[in-house]
Amino acid sequence: QKPVPSDIAISRSCVPKPIDRLAREVGLLSDEVELYGKTKAKVQLNIIKRLQAQPDGKYVVVTGITPTPLGEGKSTTTIGLVQALGAHMKLNVFACVRQPSQGPTFGIKGGAAGGGYSQVIPMEEFNLHLTGDIHAITAANNLVAAAIDARMFHEATQSDKALYNRLVPLSGGQRTFSPIQINRLKKLGIEKTDPSTLTEEEITRFARLDIEPSSVTWQRVLDTNDRFLRKITIGQSPTEKGHTREAQFDITVASEIMAVLALTSSLEDMRQRLAKMVVATSRSGEPITTEDLGVSGALTVLMRDAIKPNLMQTLEVGETLLTYKGYLKELYKPKNISVRALSFLYLQMTEAGFGADIGMEKFFNIKCRYSGLRPHVVVLVATVRALKMHGGGPTVTAGMPLPKEYIEENLELLEKGCSNMRKQIENAQHFGVPVVVAVNGFKTDTEAELDLVCSMAKAAGAFDAVRCSHWAEGGAGAVALGQAVQRASEAPSNFKFLYDLELPIADKIRIIGQKIYGADDIELLPEAQRKVELYTKQGFGNLPICMAKTHLSLSHEADKKGVPTGFVLPIRDIRASVGSGFLFPLVGTMPTIPGLPTRPCFYDIDLDPETEQVNGLF
Ligand code: ADP
Repeated sequence: QKPVPSDIAISRSCVPKPIDRLAREVGLLSDEVELYGKTKAKVQLNIIKRLQAQPDGKYVVVTGITPTPLGEGKSTTTIGLVQALGAHMKLNVFACVRQPSQGPTFGIKGGAAGGGYSQVIPMEEFNLHLTGDIHAITAANNLVAAAIDARMFHEATQSDKALYNRLVPLSGGQRTFSPIQINRLKKLGIEKTDPSTLTEEEITRFARLDIEPSSVTWQRVLDTNDRFLRKITIGQSPTEKGHTREAQFDITVASEIMAVLALTSSLEDMRQRLAKMVVATSRSGEPITTEDLGVSGALTVLMRDAIKPNLMQTLEVGETLLTYKGYLKELYKPKNISVRALSFLYLQMTEAGFGADIGMEKFFNIKCRYSGLRPHVVVLVATVRALKMHGGGPTVTAGMPLPKEYIEENLELLEKGCSNMRKQIENAQHFGVPVVVAVNGFKTDTEAELDLVCSMAKAAGAFDAVRCSHWAEGGAGAVALGQAVQRASEAPSNFKFLYDLELPIADKIRIIGQKIYGADDIELLPEAQRKVELYTKQGFGNLPICMAKTHLSLSHEADKKGVPTGFVLPIRDIRASVGSGFLFPLVGTMPTIPGLPTRPCFYDIDLDPETEQVNGLF
């Protein structure tokens, strides 16, 4: 076998098609495309209207078994498969993959453009900045954070009247409410539009949000793995007159704005979701929203372009329509938007991050519920190395050489570890969707090992299980997988959700814990119990559930491999993402911003000033 060059070398060896030409070839009209340089474009939302009447294509979701920290090739398989279906099988197909976050790109994992001969190109354009969507989220998120603290400061240092006079300033001898202020009055039950008619009591209610500082759930974000910002004290300058508060930074893609982007269907819908985001509770127990802060319109303006999907290409002709989804290992948000406009496609593939217990469950229960789209096939990526780890193999650490168990044939470990794959197949079957297992082959895997995984997968009830070599061979290495996916997409799919939204919050969490993770039961710790009561009272009880649990184990403990049994899932706390539309229980403790290892990826990344080429990205 020829050695496979580095990802960046492969990407650079291909001359990408000018993106405007590619856009024309895939049937986009010129007024539907906004060019961002030569290799990237955004797709205007007006395409949704044009294609509304077309029937939907088949919808395929790519997920995986419980991975090692190195990743098992979901992105690579998504790209390899779209290359197989598009370039080799000549089907009309798009892949929707998440945008890389700068945190992992410079931290441990590297980029997210796929790898080997299955990549999005130019990979450096994809991995760095892209069209600025993640930066827009950072900007919007931090505008809300600044608005909250500034508002609390002004309320603490001014009388009701002074506050009101500044919020509704005199202009030409008159005061006028802005539309956002009229919305706030309506929410307070004050049906007035003329400021001169407000009573003293109404002025106080209007002017004071009266935020309880300890209730603020909105955090600042940045897209760098900066662990020292996990807990900070803000307001330490004398100008803030002692109004200090403990706060934290999260990674940008943990922002609720990221989730809004992943779940929204139009500008109007995004405006409404951005306005509904709850950032804190008032001293009297009322939820305080971004609309109350007056910032929701400005957020929509900041996010105006980020809502538009990005168009790039793969190494082969299979085009890739990239959407604006986030990447987060810590707070598993649903990802992937599938714009209905893509209905002209025969097949649309989308990647749901992490193992099927995390990414796929949320993709089905949250994403598909909001989009109304029904999935036809689950592609479950499995690797020999991850299955051996589940069978009891030694710990795999990023940046360290793989222990010998992973380099030499070991059918015993592998067979034992297939239990994890069996459980993840069963998890997909809970939703009634056929599963095709993609065995992503590495050069150290033996024939006997790859065959064993396939036969175990079929015995576990997979529709099919196929070996693939798209990393080393491009789309040609995933044609068999493509054919299996095509067959599965014609098979009956009886999609159903795992739980009804009307169930009490604890019951919904219990169903996920027991059916998907294999827990005996769940335990709501006191803070979680308090939130169940609060959110039920505030009317958020019938939102879907977005579990924040480690992806490295089916259980809440990352080092428990295989199929852990006999455990009770501890729910430490529950947060509400009211704008995006879900509740997220925190299972155990998890950092919401990753840290950098001793030798981060950035050591290898540099620019050649002569050629202006980026080196060292992977
Ligand atoms: P995931 O999306 O599951 O996190 P990725 O697709 O990003 O995983 O792959 C993780 C890393 O493994 C990437 O650097 C990718 O190039 C590499 N990789 C994937 N499949 C293979 C393979 N079959 N052989 C060698 N390396 C691979």
